[in-house]
Amino acid sequence: MSLLKEVILQIFFALTPFVLYNIYYRDKLKNYSQSFILVTSSFSLLLAMTFASSVVDGVIFDIRYVIMFFGLVYGGVQTALLLLVEFVIYRLYLGGEGTRVALLMLVCTFTLCLIITKPYKTTYRKSLYTFLAGILFSVVALGLTFIFFPAYVKQHLAYHLFVIPIQNSVGIWLLMSLFSKAIADKELFIEHAQNEKFQAMSHVAASLAHEVRNPLTAVKGFLRLIQESPEEHTKTEQYIKISLDEIQRTESILTEYLSISKPLKDRSDQINVSEQLHVIQEIMLPFANMHNVELDVQIYDTPVMIFANPDEIKQVLVNIVKNAIEACTDVPNGRVILSILMEKGNAILMINDNGNGIGMDESQINYLGSIYFSTKSSGTGLGLTYSYHVIHSIGGSVRVTSEPFVGTQFTIIFPCHVDMIEKMNNGLTA
Ligand code: ADP
Ligand code: MG
Repeated sequence: MSLLKEVILQIFFALTPFVLYNIYYRDKLKNYSQSFILVTSSFSLLLAMTFASSVVDGVIFDIRYVIMFFGLVYGGVQTALLLLVEFVIYRLYLGGEGTRVALLMLVCTFTLCLIITKPYKTTYRKSLYTFLAGILFSVVALGLTFIFFPAYVKQHLAYHLFVIPIQNSVGIWLLMSLFSKAIADKELFIEHAQNEKFQAMSHVAASLAHEVRNPLTAVKGFLRLIQESPEEHTKTEQYIKISLDEIQRTESILTEYLSISKPLKDRSDQINVSEQLHVIQEIMLPFANMHNVELDVQIYDTPVMIFANPDEIKQVLVNIVKNAIEACTDVPNGRVILSILMEKGNAILMINDNGNGIGMDESQINYLGSIYFSTKSSGTGLGLTYSYHVIHSIGGSVRVTSEPFVGTQFTIIFPCHVDMIEKMNNGLTA
């Protein structure tokens, strides 16, 4: 029974990188890094060796080969070499009769890992391959132990023939298959989150096309009028001025649209959120018009500065405003209000469809931000997942209050940097 406990414990240690991956990368929009593999594998190795299974003092068996193989596949040769060093140092420290054979075994299995990693990466039958790798490691361990301690192996033959191969095979198979599934899911999520951006922007583009047509029709009309009576100079001047204003407005909408729909840049900057709200109003107004929803922006002209990636913040605002507009579609007098204020060094941004939005009940509110949660027939359920991720990554938070058939208020709290607050105060008193 205690042997079974030890085996289960070893398999659990083998799964440490997988468990930590799910905790650490849960809400992140990126996949694992080499240093993550190194840290978690080292931790797993330490646990496995400290609580190794053993039938004779000084001769210990654990899932070190599993960890080594995992480190090599996902972290590369450098990670595996560092794990090897860690193993050697710790094994020497633990000491005992089996130290010499353990070091020799490790050299052999490390070489074996190097040989099988490449075919493992290309094979389609990964589960079978990992299972066999576990058996192979156990055979090497058995062979070398037999050369050094034949009497001991004969005495504990069942342990070497069954327990260790099962421990290694199940451990390696579980770790490799669960981890590869987890990272494949994450990759899919990242890909979907990026597609979501294009999908959201293509919805906005459809309404934008309408909006661009209106000024074009107006300009065409004015040009006709000028053509018909070119001698009326005062009127011509007036028509030209209106036409230029229309063209200017259309141009600025298109420029902003293009700046949002292009791929994200990896940079952070000081952003004036008040200014961004005006931009979002311009971009989203056609979408609001198309859905018969009024879009109001209530801000005072004080700059509200935060430090973030401007492209990401625009995308977050588009996502949340788009949801608010969609929530008021099909209701009479649909209205979405954006407002911003400063409070205790925070920028508080409110997006409100409270009054006539479709609203949400308690359980829906709890699901907000969860991947793929959507109540719309053609929704993706990724807009808020992405938005929450961006807001949290700059130390912000989101509060949602909602009532079914009454409406919803999203409150986003962005921290303002202290020196920015000082600058803003100086700017106000100057
Ligand atoms: P999608 O819009 O593709 O459904 P999102 O992640 O943008 O995905 O939103 C997830 C879900 O959150 C929506 O399907 C909707 O049920 C809910 N939701 C978000 N904003 C609002 C809102 N303002 N009013 C009511 N429900 C909302
Ligand atoms: Mg949405």
